[in-house]
Amino acid sequence: MKIHEYQARNLFRKYGIPVPDGVVCHSVEEVEKNVPGDDKLRVVKAQVHVGGRGKAGGVKLAKTKAEAVEKAGQILGMDIKGLTVEKVLVADAVDIEKEFYVGLINDRNTKSVTLMASAEGGVEIEEVARVSPEKIIKMSIDPTMGLMDWQARKIALQLFSDPKEMRQAAAILVKLYRLYVETDSSLAEINPLVLTPDKRVMAIDGKMNFDDNALFRQPEILKMREATEDEKKEIEANEKGLSYIKLDGNIGCMVNGAGLAMATMDMIKLYGGEPANFLDIGGSSSPQKVVEAMNILLSDTNVNAVMINIFGGITRCDDVARGLVTALKEIDTDIPVVIRLSGTNAKEGLEIIREFGLPTVSTMSEAAQKAIELSRG
Ligand code: GDP
Ligand code: MN
Repeated sequence: MKIHEYQARNLFRKYGIPVPDGVVCHSVEEVEKNVPGDDKLRVVKAQVHVGGRGKAGGVKLAKTKAEAVEKAGQILGMDIKGLTVEKVLVADAVDIEKEFYVGLINDRNTKSVTLMASAEGGVEIEEVARVSPEKIIKMSIDPTMGLMDWQARKIALQLFSDPKEMRQAAAILVKLYRLYVETDSSLAEINPLVLTPDKRVMAIDGKMNFDDNALFRQPEILKMREATEDEKKEIEANEKGLSYIKLDGNIGCMVNGAGLAMATMDMIKLYGGEPANFLDIGGSSSPQKVVEAMNILLSDTNVNAVMINIFGGITRCDDVARGLVTALKEIDTDIPVVIRLSGTNAKEGLEIIREFGLPTVSTMSEAAQKAIELSRG
């Protein structure tokens, strides 16, 4: 689960990491009403679940309140990497002497949390990692010990030479680690962490992700969930026992089993198509589940062909076929559907589909090619 910058800032504040004050506004009127009337330097920031907002024009400085209102008007409604800006953070701006990067992630290789830091702050860390990976300092943290003060100082010393600045940064690292562990986070980034001309070290941006599988024990974090329309669909699918992830292509996939779902996506890609989603309907042949899965698939307006790929193991293909027929009778759509059934009772299953009047194919590659062809109209 992702949260917005303003929410990350609230968590930072709670854990004692210095952050400038700010207010979240959903409209220009709210900026008028909630931002104090004094004319000080502020920064108006799009609150969307993607990075690189600055480059996209979603972060603007404002010298007066009137200017903050104006900039908010420009940013609200803006499209940033496919996401519409529905709220802005209007925060006190700070003067920046230098920008740094600090972050924590779960590292599967070392099976521990990795602390990353860089004096190349402000730019996207992926970019630093690509161009000059040697500029990123990394340290694995022993989960039984946590981040010890001396380790935090050791990292901070590589970014700051002045002891007073170094100590502020080290304290921030220790707090960020505590926050990370206590909230079951999977990513916590401060980019940039800044040094001000009056030698204060503070966070002026924050990004945090959380482990979905831990949300059941993180009610305070779960309350912060502000799902986008796509995420809402994924959550809804999940509640119905389907694993659904929306992608950007146009071929809807309905598959039983996660491995087969991935293989199906690969197959579509192999033949030059683009899958619209990952969708695992699980092991049952329940028509209801198929109807729900189809409805979710077809609610994506990019979808213009559907590939159903079923492998019958314990689930029998004829059962699945009956489920599909019941479901397809119920769903009113002119989007073409290609069905591939293989495995237990495939012959009987294909017969049922053929009787219903839908084309069938017996191999996955055939199905992928047929779906791509149909998607091109
Ligand atoms: P991002 O582009 O989505 O990562 O958004 P950031 O919050 O990191 O802002 C992008 C850049 O805008 C920062 O790297 C800073 O250079 C600049 N910026 C953001 N806030 C302030 C501020 O308070 N004062 C100044 N001078 N620059 C800021
Ligand atoms: Mn940033």
